[in-house]
Amino acid sequence: MNADIIKENLKEVETRINAACTRAGRERDEITLIAVSKTKPVSDIETVLGENISVFGENKVQELTEKYELLPKDIRWHLIGHLQTNKVKYIVDKVAMIHSVDSLKLAEQIQKEAEKKGIICNILIEVNMAREESKFGVYEEDVEALILEIAKLPNVHICGLMTIAPNVEEAEKNRKYFRKLRQLNIDIKMKNIDNVTMDELSMGMTGDYEIAIEEGATMVRVGTGIFGERNYRTS
Ligand SMILES: *Cc1c(COP(=O)(O)O)cnc(C)c1O
Repeated sequence: MNADIIKENLKEVETRINAACTRAGRERDEITLIAVSKTKPVSDIETVLGENISVFGENKVQELTEKYELLPKDIRWHLIGHLQTNKVKYIVDKVAMIHSVDSLKLAEQIQKEAEKKGIICNILIEVNMAREESKFGVYEEDVEALILEIAKLPNVHICGLMTIAPNVEEAEKNRKYFRKLRQLNIDIKMKNIDNVTMDELSMGMTGDYEIAIEEGATMVRVGTGIFGERNYRTS
């Protein structure tokens, strides 16, 4: 994609984030913009890096590790897509955060690999708020029990919750899910569980990040809004 278009897109996203912050009475620095670069070439990522954004999201392990090798090591990579247990070993020491933990089995595998490498791995629990069959994530009523188990793993640190809201025409329809996820985050934070901080809420994508910010998102994951449409055939 043309670098000038990416830069224009970024300005637009920044303007909208700032406006949402103003509406919600929040500070801009409460929100991390994650540039979702899946399917996009390294050259596009370099354009965004040049605009002082250094947090990127990828949803596939192989693509993340390939880009990791080619790009500066101070990039903070977030794995936002489903993670298979047999692939944890390839990324556990390369990512700043894994957003998609939805089982004890996966968390135990992260524990095993993080311990081997002598690191603490930051994770979010993925919640399927709209109970969509096509989506990963745990149902809201199962979140606390899962957190209580994962909290026992010393090399896995739970930072908060993540959700992928339904793909809707009208972003306003997703507000209720964002609001409920934030409340769930607060409820669990109040329990003061050891090794669990619950300061992060990863919610909002190109279609609905402004609503998510109004409802308390601390991380928004924006792909199309920055890099343009994805073309899965040529990637
Ligand atoms: C692709 C993806 C995004 C970004 O989606 P856009 O609509 O292009 O902004 C955000 N989160 C997850 C988990 C994704 O897989």
